[in-house]
Amino acid sequence: QPVVGVLALQGDVREHLTALRAAGADAREVRRPEELAEVDGLVIPGGESTTMSKLATIFGLLEPLRERVRAGMPAYGSCAGMIMLADKILDPRSGQETIGGIDMIVRRNAFGRQNESFEAALEMTGLAGGPVEGVFIRAPWVESTGAATEVLATYDGHPVAVRQGPLLATSFHPELTGDHRVHRLFTDMVRAATPAR
Ligand code: GLN
Repeated sequence: QPVVGVLALQGDVREHLTALRAAGADAREVRRPEELAEVDGLVIPGGESTTMSKLATIFGLLEPLRERVRAGMPAYGSCAGMIMLADKILDPRSGQETIGGIDMIVRRNAFGRQNESFEAALEMTGLAGGPVEGVFIRAPWVESTGAATEVLATYDGHPVAVRQGPLLATSFHPELTGDHRVHRLFTDMVRAATPAR
């Protein structure tokens, strides 16, 4: 079983742990650099990216996270987690740091006030079995992507799911729906990247 951590500083950690276990991963919380060192892959949950960024700095995790991602650790970010994996935020709050790794610019809270929360059925490349129900909550969208970034799903013309090598990100929250296909896709990515234990 691949060991998959969930960054447990803030956000919907429990929901990701449940989805990962259903997808066949050995899922655990990651709060300290020593815990990060023990996982084969990492999920960065939804929540509030400004807070998550501050806490990662305070807990001494930001640099270790950047190092592991640079070294090829698979990571999956949903919503705020997508923002954390972006190389760039459009109009960042001053001082807001990201882990980075995915060559893209994201726009926070992109869907606007009238559309703060909504659900939409999305066709997603790499997911067999029909559309996935996307739950969007004050979600970002991807403003632009680099050449190495593959767009897996769009909504209203904007990318809302992307992949770059071992890094995966969605604007929406599959951990809230009981459909574990995205977590299964990520667990398979972790398995593929991890030498047999
Ligand atoms: N709006 C939040 C942010 O900018 C993300 C919301 C979410 O994760 N549901 O971090």
